[in-house]
Amino acid sequence: MTDQNGSTNGPGGPGGIAPTARVTDYTDRFAKFLETEVAPLEQDLARRGVGTPWQPKLDDAGRMHPEVWEARREVQRRSAAAGLYNPHIRAELGGGGFSRVEMQHVEEFVYRNAGLGLGLAALAWTEGANPAIEHVSDAARGRYLDPLLAGEVTAAFANTEPGVGTDVLAMSTHARRDGADWIVNGRKAWITNAHFADFVQVVAVTEPGAGTRSLSMFLVDADAPGFSRGRDIPTMMADGLTGELGFDEVRVPAENVVGEIGDGFALAMSWINWRRLCRGGMCAGWGHWLLDRALDRARTRTSGGRPIADLQAVQHLLADMDADIYAARSASLVAQAELDVLGPFDIPLHRDAPRLISLVKVINDEAFYRVADNAVQVHGATGLLQGSPEEKLFRVARNLRIPAGTVEIQRNAIARGLLRGDPASR
Ligand SMILES: Cc1cc2nc3c(=O)[nH]c(=O)nc-3n(C[C@H](O)[C@H](O)[C@H](O)COP(=O)(O)OP(=O)(O)OC[C@H]3O[C@@H](n4cnc5c(N)ncnc54)[C@H](O)[C@@H]3O)c2cc1C
Repeated sequence: MTDQNGSTNGPGGPGGIAPTARVTDYTDRFAKFLETEVAPLEQDLARRGVGTPWQPKLDDAGRMHPEVWEARREVQRRSAAAGLYNPHIRAELGGGGFSRVEMQHVEEFVYRNAGLGLGLAALAWTEGANPAIEHVSDAARGRYLDPLLAGEVTAAFANTEPGVGTDVLAMSTHARRDGADWIVNGRKAWITNAHFADFVQVVAVTEPGAGTRSLSMFLVDADAPGFSRGRDIPTMMADGLTGELGFDEVRVPAENVVGEIGDGFALAMSWINWRRLCRGGMCAGWGHWLLDRALDRARTRTSGGRPIADLQAVQHLLADMDADIYAARSASLVAQAELDVLGPFDIPLHRDAPRLISLVKVINDEAFYRVADNAVQVHGATGLLQGSPEEKLFRVARNLRIPAGTVEIQRNAIARGLLRGDPASR
């Protein structure tokens, strides 16, 4: 049976893991979009000599070359116009209303088919709409969420500080009430899209000592007096997108509070949990892409007059890649299906959800690291070539184990769930 969204009961319906009809419709349209809209932009970018989206030239301040950034922006605008940019956002807000299982299939398709190209920008990533901003006030919706969904502006999520990462509740950025407004002061660091964001979803202390109710989330315009972009923070990603932000007596109207005062921790977690869950499709998609490339290489590279694919040592590298991708993909789909039933981003979050979300992140981060490592090994020295897909994705894979909560923090959440009596331990 098929419902109005093209979801099927049984394997593809609630609790199921098969792609639904609307996933197939989306991926068909996405494939066409890559061919007709993205490929010409990619060719144009290649002619300009400003690098690629995965290996951009950087400007004097160490930031992504503005022409590479603009090419990504153009893809986002076209993707939004084609109805491809926001499948993960609730339908009543203007998104596709896809479930997490559906999104895993979508993300897998996007990462496998866009590889490291400009097409990756066609699906909203950290600079786009997210489950936290879905809680924007009605008054601020037209000013922030709608343009974000349309690809007209980009955002950044500002949670981490120079002195505080994992230990979020120890943050020092704070906001005090002034009449109906709020005044924000503090510094944020390691923020993706710090240099280009049109507005920022910033998390700040509003009630010191109130534990998980001590924080609130505010929308701050990048041209607000007192807001500043700080230095670039060059990481091994070498994408010129990570930097610092400053807030010096920044006045924020009450309508720019996301959710309610005191919801900041839960909202930050829903943003972070969204990124954690995206690991499932990302690692399956890039993993398959690397495996396809490794198979090609093994069939064509020779040693002793025979393809290296004939060598058991190389066959085992390929088999290990397949095993890791298959296991991580399967586990993720099952966990995403369970989360679709529990509510992956509900506030408050179902008590059984954090363990499942952390399982998705730690399983994928660690499996993909091994996959990327084996991909380099199959390619030999070519896999170490700076700017090659294998070399870049090895650096990406190493990075993935830290942002959106380190793999150690995921283990903490899994153990907390087990010791409290989550389903796996009952
Ligand atoms: C490329 C990149 C992009 C990023 N983008 C953003 C962004 O857009 N917005 C944003 O807000 N942040 C962003 N971050 C920050 C990121 O979320 C943090 O780096 C991450 O949460 C870890 O914090 P930390 O680096 O301060 O590590 P620390 O908290 O200093 O941790 C250091 C080590 O101690 C361990 N550790 C710490 N506390 C515990 C504990 N309680 N139990 C067990 N082990 C523990 C950690 O696992 C780690 O191994 C980004 C980071 C990078 C590298």
